[in-house]
Amino acid sequence: MSFKGAKLVWHNGQMIPWKEATVHVMTHALHYGSSVFEGIRVYKTSKGLKTFRLTDHIQRLFNSALIYRIEIPYEQLTLVEVCKKVILANELMKGAYIRPIVFRGLGNVGLVPKENDPINVSIAAWEWGPYLGANALEKGVDVCVSSWQRVAPNTLPALAKAGGNYLSSQLISAEAKRLGFAEGIALDTNGMVSEGAGENLFIIRDKQIYTPPSASSILTGITRDSVMQLASQLNLKVREELIPREMLYLADEAFFTGTAVEITPIRSVDRIKIGQGHRGPITKQLQDIFFGLFNGDTEDNHGWLEDLDENLADSTSHI
Ligand code: PMP
Repeated sequence: MSFKGAKLVWHNGQMIPWKEATVHVMTHALHYGSSVFEGIRVYKTSKGLKTFRLTDHIQRLFNSALIYRIEIPYEQLTLVEVCKKVILANELMKGAYIRPIVFRGLGNVGLVPKENDPINVSIAAWEWGPYLGANALEKGVDVCVSSWQRVAPNTLPALAKAGGNYLSSQLISAEAKRLGFAEGIALDTNGMVSEGAGENLFIIRDKQIYTPPSASSILTGITRDSVMQLASQLNLKVREELIPREMLYLADEAFFTGTAVEITPIRSVDRIKIGQGHRGPITKQLQDIFFGLFNGDTEDNHGWLEDLDENLADSTSHI
């Protein structure tokens, strides 16, 4: 099983065994993609086990739900606490990945849910290593521009992290892997660079850092935001600008950001070498300040790291 260390799942208010965390085949979300979810990392830091920007992730979960008019039947703070509780209950003390999901459940079969149709909330967690392989963080990855474009504005909202959107991501990523690349980059419907299948993208040219703006059909990533704030700590400015495809080939450096990939250098696009074909100096600088948050070299000025209060398992036992 690839969900290492997962023993218990929190489901609609109860901690249940992993094997019992199943749904009915007529679940609305299974047929129509009507779910919103998050992915959050927990790091084993020099100061103990910490969640990274958990509160911001849960805020984005509620924002995604708002776009789709899904009313989450819990307070934000409750779900923040439950995430921590799931880590503790599963004893994931080496660091982990948390996956909260809110989904329309077994109600009526109609496309438009009825008022009393159930909205389910589940939170699972497991141990997770580097997403694109052990070497990727240092050596970088080879990627391609996908023949699949990102969702067009006013079709599926890219700013919502909704289950249905990931059909697009699956096409992009699967095509790339079939062709022997680690990941695919999608253009938006105007032909401008958007993002990876599950990652935001940055490029560096002449010491300027660029990333596509929110209007380029991206999910505004929390790692993307972290990198922008950490860059400014290093007196580096990130320009949110439209990026034409060919800028990828002319970049001195490029990298992906995301909860899963963290900061992963890109060493080639469409078999064209980026810069020297290995991780560049600004990418390394940004990785150092980012991973420094966890090894203690970078001060957590923004309060991004949260404790997993040891007492929490008791204090929230009513949830
Ligand atoms: N874009 C897409 C499509 C994603 O799925 C993700 C992963 N959540 C990201 C970007 C990166 O977002 P974050 O840094 O918040 O994980």
